[in-house]
Amino acid sequence: MTAVLSGTEVAAGIRTEVTAEAARLTAAGTPPRLAVVVATDDGSSASYVRSIARAAQRTGIACTVVDLGPDAAPEEIRAALAALSDDPAVHGIILQTPLPPDADFEDLAAAIDPAKDVDGANPLSLGRLAADLPSFPPATAEAVLVLLDAHGVPLAGARAVVVGRSNVVGKPVAQLLLARDATVTICHRHTKELADVTRTADVLVAAVGRPGLVTAEHVAEGVVVGDVGTNPTPDGGLVGDVDAASVTGRAGALTPVPGGVGPVTTALLLRHTVAAARASAGSA
Ligand code: NAD
Repeated sequence: MTAVLSGTEVAAGIRTEVTAEAARLTAAGTPPRLAVVVATDDGSSASYVRSIARAAQRTGIACTVVDLGPDAAPEEIRAALAALSDDPAVHGIILQTPLPPDADFEDLAAAIDPAKDVDGANPLSLGRLAADLPSFPPATAEAVLVLLDAHGVPLAGARAVVVGRSNVVGKPVAQLLLARDATVTICHRHTKELADVTRTADVLVAAVGRPGLVTAEHVAEGVVVGDVGTNPTPDGGLVGDVDAASVTGRAGALTPVPGGVGPVTTALLLRHTVAAARASAGSA
């Protein structure tokens, strides 16, 4: 029996809390505002940004999309991020990917004020996370932990294996698991005998971007699997990195795609934005 660790209700609970806090802040004279900087004409990016803007507005957070177009120069993107960082009416800033080919994500994200860095993109935020100092973790990485916690998965002393080592997901998930006293192994594209490593996991997180990478041979009996992958299918759907049919019956639990990590990620971006607004109002 493989339990499905849904994110839908967890996300709804976070949005309810955010809605109350956004109303309180607005009444107190600090209406929370999120800004998303876009420099691409990628279709799936556009629909992701629309979904963030919709979710923000539904919870009472204003959302500004700064669309610089796919030909934006890196300096233009940096200037937009710096201007938003200086704008006291803006509390959260997201730099959307993909970026134009000559723009470097980490380099540009360094222009986001860490106090407004609601998706943990500034390398300073990642460094503070690694040093156990307060910062906003990347929302997707935190969403994995929030989902595991919501479903009561024990982490202290657990053997955790993270597949993927990107700055946006793999590394911060590993840091968050480490901060919760899990024993963490990170795998990546050069890892040899991947299945031998992943089979040692009590908790397995897949954050690669390759549909069907994790199959029954990669999982031990009873393992809890967090699937971060979001891979578009030709029919307009979405699948994760885990072959759900293959691991079902062997894994103890699995986060679904869609409906797992994704909705919790969006809800956390909103929670981070009201937290940033609260801090800016001096009532943290
Ligand atoms: P990335 O391309 O930056 O990193 C992929 C990582 O996977 C790399 O570290 C690479 O070494 C590793 N890798 C590649 N092939 C591998 C293999 N065969 N075996 C083991 N490791 C391998 O990707 P990313 O930005 O970290 O995103 C990963 C996935 O998570 C993507 O599907 C992305 O769409 C998804 N994602 C989802 C959300 C969400 O909100 N749900 C947010 C961000 C990313």
